[in-house]
Amino acid sequence: MGGKGLLTVFCGPSGVGKGSVLKAAMAKNSGIKLSVSVTTRKPRPGEVDGKDYFFVTIEEFKKMIESDQLAEWAEYCGNYYGTPRKAIEDDLMKGHDVILEIDTAGAKSIKSKSPDAVTIFLLPPSFDELKRRIVKRGTEELSVIEKRFETARMEIGLIEMYDYVIINDDIEKA
Ligand code: 5GP
Repeated sequence: MGGKGLLTVFCGPSGVGKGSVLKAAMAKNSGIKLSVSVTTRKPRPGEVDGKDYFFVTIEEFKKMIESDQLAEWAEYCGNYYGTPRKAIEDDLMKGHDVILEIDTAGAKSIKSKSPDAVTIFLLPPSFDELKRRIVKRGTEELSVIEKRFETARMEIGLIEMYDYVIINDDIEKA
């Protein structure tokens, strides 16, 4: 993925507060573009199609893979997620800095194709705090929460692959 802008990959376990930290960072820097991913997950209350995600069916997602429309994609806790290629290529070519908020598998895939991409992992202050945040969000069933928590342990075990690790103790500082 060439271009003049900087490509940044922002990762972290479910519930760590990636969305809140990114929102705060973007409020201070209007030049950053956040890539809107495609997903087969059902929208959570309040999520808007085209803004939070492009919500698609599994068939539509598979077609996007087949026609090479995704820069990377991964399965996460039973749903598919992917980064639309064209939007990020266009933004990078225009000189915008682009942030991808994606999972660990996606980060590995992007870094292998674009070694200049900067990778950042957001860590919770503790596992207990992470679980508290996922439960407090209240958008997932217990079985899904357990699965996301298990995935979080796996993801946190891979932090050495990132260029930077940030602890989200305080949103402003993070
Ligand atoms: P959530 O369902 O909580 O919105 O997202 C679940 C996980 O999927 C998060 O770790 C999120 O960063 C990741 N994710 C979101 N969009 C993408 C994407 O386009 N590609 C990949 N690989 N992961 C994504």
